[in-house]
Amino acid sequence: MTPISPVYANISSTIAKYNWKQPQSSAAQKPNGIDFQKDLPWIRDNVLTTALAEINELTFEPSDIKYVENLGINLPFKSGKECVDFIEKENIRLYFAKPFEKGVHAQYSFDRNAIMINKKYQNTKDFAVMLAIGEAILHEAGHAKDKDGQSSVQEELNFLGMNAVAHRAFIKKYGKVFSNSTAPIVADGVSIYEKLFFDPDPDKKRLIARMKEKYGDLPPGDRLHPPGKIARAVLQ
Ligand SMILES: [Zn+2]
Repeated sequence: MTPISPVYANISSTIAKYNWKQPQSSAAQKPNGIDFQKDLPWIRDNVLTTALAEINELTFEPSDIKYVENLGINLPFKSGKECVDFIEKENIRLYFAKPFEKGVHAQYSFDRNAIMINKKYQNTKDFAVMLAIGEAILHEAGHAKDKDGQSSVQEELNFLGMNAVAHRAFIKKYGKVFSNSTAPIVADGVSIYEKLFFDPDPDKKRLIARMKEKYGDLPPGDRLHPPGKIARAVLQ
């Protein structure tokens, strides 16, 4: 068995005790934290507050940002806090719902100005899944940012690239937190893109193949997200 890092052990025990339910959560007491009662009073769900508090504290490694920028990726948020501030400012709602399409982990509804997380993760006790929900929130908030209800291969690349950077930041903070999770949002979601973007292959052939499979029906780019080299390769 892999040893649990002290930080993660500490967090796990906090979650097990459900301190999050209390008005003065540990996140609320930190200067950078969110005061959920004041800032986001409509959020009641413990899993969503945990996910938001985790992304709010997440800083991205500058060298990881540089790495994906060199692949033509343009991050919509440079830190987790930027994303949480945006959600608050734009009054974006978050809730669990049945996805429009089977197998979708999360989606942003332009009409409802809401980020919906697949209902099957409601009430999860798996901390790795809560972090993955945080990453899904980062991604979907990216879609909310351009206010057009459309997507393109480059737009998806930008947000998945940010997911890869965020995922590395969580691993740096919590060690092997994701390695034993079999939940699709982790194993077939956030963990995959970290490997694909940071693949030692300079041509990123596996990333291109995955993008073709998942997003090949989208246009290569759009007005706000002009296609880079990888997006163009996906459509070839
Ligand atoms: Zn997307």
